Amino acid sequence: MNAHVCFVSYHELGLKGKNRSVFTRCLQDNISFLLGPRYPVRRIQGRILVDVAPDADMYEIAQRIALIPGVANVTPSFVVGRDLDEIYHVTLRELKALPLAPETFRITAKRSNTDFEMTSQQINEQVGSFIVENTDLRVDLSEPDVNIRVTIVGGQTYIALTKIEGAGGLPVGSSGKLVSLISGGIDSPVATWRMIRRGAVCIGLHFSGAPELSDASTRQVFDIGEVLAHTGGLGRIYSVPFGQIQREIASLVYPDLRILIYRRVMIAVAEALARIESAQALVTGESLGQVASQTLENLIATSDGTNITIFRPLIGDDKHDIVALAKRIDTFELSSQAIDDCCTLFMPRTPETHVKIERIREACAQLDIDSYIARCIDTMSWRDYPCNHYQAPKTLLK
Ligand code: ATP
Ligand code: MG
Repeated sequence: MNAHVCFVSYHELGLKGKNRSVFTRCLQDNISFLLGPRYPVRRIQGRILVDVAPDADMYEIAQRIALIPGVANVTPSFVVGRDLDEIYHVTLRELKALPLAPETFRITAKRSNTDFEMTSQQINEQVGSFIVENTDLRVDLSEPDVNIRVTIVGGQTYIALTKIEGAGGLPVGSSGKLVSLISGGIDSPVATWRMIRRGAVCIGLHFSGAPELSDASTRQVFDIGEVLAHTGGLGRIYSVPFGQIQREIASLVYPDLRILIYRRVMIAVAEALARIESAQALVTGESLGQVASQTLENLIATSDGTNITIFRPLIGDDKHDIVALAKRIDTFELSSQAIDDCCTLFMPRTPETHVKIERIREACAQLDIDSYIARCIDTMSWRDYPCNHYQAPKTLLK
């Protein structure tokens, strides 16, 4: 059996000077942490190389690497010597093993050793002729079904039939720490992923309707966390049973203000959690005008009671695009399960859509928001995820 490797490219890390090596190091560490000690990760000529154990599925490992922020693309490759016969036969064998039989191909050879007896063009021609003679495939240089890369470096030849597009963005650990409000709906997991992709470590915060409702939404959000955790950028998700506090708020404020006040309390709890976690800002999945609580006035009213910065990475996105991204990052199906979080509890018949800021401030002044915050922090449960840039705060140990 041939040895396997995955080459990892990182375009965006084309940052200047000292940053570049810090970021590459960070990406290398993240890949190594997520794959574990069975897969040594090294740097070679401006790329990262992952050694894949011969009995492991190289394509599956490549898919896992592709999910890691900072990765531009992954090229799973077979390693052979410099013997032409071996190059021919491994190329042929792997072409035949492709799940979707191609009709056309090209060879893209690269040789960094001038002591190899053939030029790149000669390798293209020789390997190409061998494939044409031994299969029904045709050569197509401009739009081939499969582009076979044959790279000769040092004493070895790497043969690759696919290149997998990576997550892009920046390596986790290069952009600070955020608390992300995750509802279990479609939007907030996507918003969280977008910030993780830019290199931030996220800590999720969910509000369930327990004890008024079951804890199903907590399980749903923890499951969504398992998917987001493939990036290595999710440290932990906290879940707060919010139903009782909502009941109390509902009995104290005008019905049309309820949703906005629940939201402001959520933000206040998130701000307190950010302090405990030493996180620098919050994230939500809001998008301008998408629902009644997300009109410009209401978004402003939601942020009004807080000092911490709130990022809304989906603010200018259409639902259609958010859904497409949710499908791509694999959270869509989990998010589409009809499970109620706290948002369905004590809903008014006609929520305020363009609230006046003074009205909401007056209503909030009647409430003991600090005691709600304390109760929420006290009753939170959580789940941890593999993240080498997350350290749990000492103050929360139960
Ligand atoms: P989503 O698809 O993320 O559920 P949405 O379209 O349902 O969003 P809203 O219900 O107005 O919109 O929620 C807006 C944002 O507020 C969410 O994206 C999320 O960041 C936060 N949020 C709402 N409900 C919850 C909840 N139960 N727990 C944590 N955060 C929440
Ligand atoms: Mg929702």
